[in-house]
Amino acid sequence: MLNLDSKIQYLRGIGPGRSQIFAKLGIITVGDMLTFFPVWYQDRTKIISIRDACEQPQSCIFGKIGKTYNRQLSRGLCLLYIEIFDGISMGYARFFRKKNTYSGADIFASLKKAFEPGTFAYVYGSTKTEDGSRFIDVDDYETVKNEKDKPLLFNRIMPVYPSTEGLKQRFIRETVKSVLDSVCGLYPDVSDLIPDFDGIPKLKSSFAIQKIHYPAALEEAESARRAFALQEFFTLEFALSLSRSNIRKKCKTQRYEIRKTLLTAFKNNLKFEFTKDQKKAINDIFSDMQSLYPMNRMLMGDVGCGKTVVALSAVLLAVESGYQSMIVAPTEILAEQHYLTVSNMLAGLSVKVVLATSSTLKKKSEREKMSAGFENGDIKIAVGTHSLIEDKIKFKNLSLIIIDEQQKFGVMQKFALSDKACSPDILMMTATPIPRSLALIAYGEMDMTAIKQLPPGRSPVKTYFLDEQSAYINAIKELKNENQAYIVYPIIDKSDKLALKSAVQESEKLSQTWFRDFKVGLLHGRMKPSEKNKIMREFKNKEFDVLISTTVVGVGIDVPDATVMIIQHAERFGLSDLHQLRGRIGRGSKQSYAYLIGDLKNETAHKRLLVMTSTNNGFKIAEEDLKMRGHGELMGTLQHGFPKFKAGNLIKDADIIEFTRSLAAKIAEEDPCLSKMENAALKRLICRLFSDKIKLINIG
Ligand code: ADP
Ligand code: MG
Repeated sequence: MLNLDSKIQYLRGIGPGRSQIFAKLGIITVGDMLTFFPVWYQDRTKIISIRDACEQPQSCIFGKIGKTYNRQLSRGLCLLYIEIFDGISMGYARFFRKKNTYSGADIFASLKKAFEPGTFAYVYGSTKTEDGSRFIDVDDYETVKNEKDKPLLFNRIMPVYPSTEGLKQRFIRETVKSVLDSVCGLYPDVSDLIPDFDGIPKLKSSFAIQKIHYPAALEEAESARRAFALQEFFTLEFALSLSRSNIRKKCKTQRYEIRKTLLTAFKNNLKFEFTKDQKKAINDIFSDMQSLYPMNRMLMGDVGCGKTVVALSAVLLAVESGYQSMIVAPTEILAEQHYLTVSNMLAGLSVKVVLATSSTLKKKSEREKMSAGFENGDIKIAVGTHSLIEDKIKFKNLSLIIIDEQQKFGVMQKFALSDKACSPDILMMTATPIPRSLALIAYGEMDMTAIKQLPPGRSPVKTYFLDEQSAYINAIKELKNENQAYIVYPIIDKSDKLALKSAVQESEKLSQTWFRDFKVGLLHGRMKPSEKNKIMREFKNKEFDVLISTTVVGVGIDVPDATVMIIQHAERFGLSDLHQLRGRIGRGSKQSYAYLIGDLKNETAHKRLLVMTSTNNGFKIAEEDLKMRGHGELMGTLQHGFPKFKAGNLIKDADIIEFTRSLAAKIAEEDPCLSKMENAALKRLICRLFSDKIKLINIG
């Protein structure tokens, strides 16, 4: 008996060879085949008369079959014409085939047999008029004995599947259809658990699957897709909820108490008030920390929104309560900057902080001192890079781990990290704006807090398209006012393949021409980390006025006097990259300017860059980026191994994702082990789809 888990190898017509080709399309089991959905559809509902078929890309004709003619073209290409008469006009169905030079057999033999004169044919393809005659280059056809016989492949909407070499569309259709007919009813259905939402029809999963493959009309395909996506996202969100609540179930031993010995002093040290969003974030974090279960929270917020003070508040709560904390940054320079910020903000509070990066851990004496301090609990805060994770250093009572720019860390590293403590509270921070729909999935195993507002008194960076000359002139004006400038290039070195300016060549040129009166530095990704560090530090200390660079400055340090950024070949960068780059300026109170230089003749490139000049809101930019880059490319940004959606779409279904998240969370709370009868199908579906993919799901 076939079931959803049967290997497709055992289906009729598919042996080991073809099953390997299907595997390339991600189809291993019969269940995969069932949800292997079309990429588009051919509308074969309308038959047009041959007389009207002049130049139509996709159309259907129907008529009586007449004579056939062979023609041999050059280079072994053969043509077959078949007369089709629809009662008014005559046309020719046309097939092209490559002749096999070693075989004397007629390559059209089977077609000639199928198109038997006097019977009838439906033909789908593109029509042409040549020398007054009508031709249709055949994409698909079906013959019937009698005029009134019902066709199988015509008078309907036909699915078109993603294909790959060695698989014909016809064969895929037949295989999918046979699977649909035999096992579609077995697909678990969770529609009963989902309330009505936004006019999406309530369809049983098997019915939705049928309709996605064979809709009666194109609109029906889309509504069936939405109906299936609703179940799909609901199931995914449910799995993520379970995984969230399972993290919560691990009891932790650390207990925090707000004593305000440090927190109040810290607050008084700050020269500003927390913004509303910062207060909310601190509240969320404190209540996580004070609960019985480990914190597992993502703090999202645009560059400059003030995540550091929020994180520090958490750190101080841990220190006040007698525990140690760790702050991990993706690069040495960022770790160093965090270390400086933390030390400054804690000035006079007698809390011991160290910088633990590969450079500082290299020296034996220093390392031993630090190691002892961690073990005996003297050192309260360690700021460092991944070397802190990899190192065997032990802590006395590490309870809180803060990870900055989370997406720069591999998943494994994150888990290795938590081995330093038993069930530590984990706070991740990111400034990489991603649309909420994507965040709800990519960070679905975490609780989330977003800081949306910037601290008051910032003047947003002004962004303009400009020609190169004017950009340099404007930059020089700023430099003369003791300010600094970045100039960013898409590539490091000149390339034969790309006619682009590059950082190395232009830094030589510009330092002798436009910027000969200023000090020009160069920074790029091929430099050693220590070298990069040195350059960045020198730029911050104003040893350079201009820093010529590649995207490596994207994750950089605070240089408050940098007020200009010129981005060359701006059309070569993604919107999120541009936003990240632009975040390097406007970090002080001074007005800053970003100048985009690029080829705006390309209309899509222009439209894309307009987003940059019209808003500074990272989330809005991310949304636009998502729309322009499309769902497919976005899926690529999810972690490797993340389940692919069958019908769901990150762009079209953002509303569904939002809706199902809270719904799933509610059910997960009521029935965390899915032991209730009504949740049986959901349990089966989750086991099918996600049990091996999402960590910490454990529903037996
Ligand atoms: P990010 O979220 O990018 O890590 P930071 O924490 O580095 O941002 O903060 C950027 C700057 O804003 C820092 O100089 C910080 O001191 C300042 N800042 C943070 N919160 C506030 C606030 N509520 N009011 C004024 N300035 C603030
Ligand atoms: Mg930061």
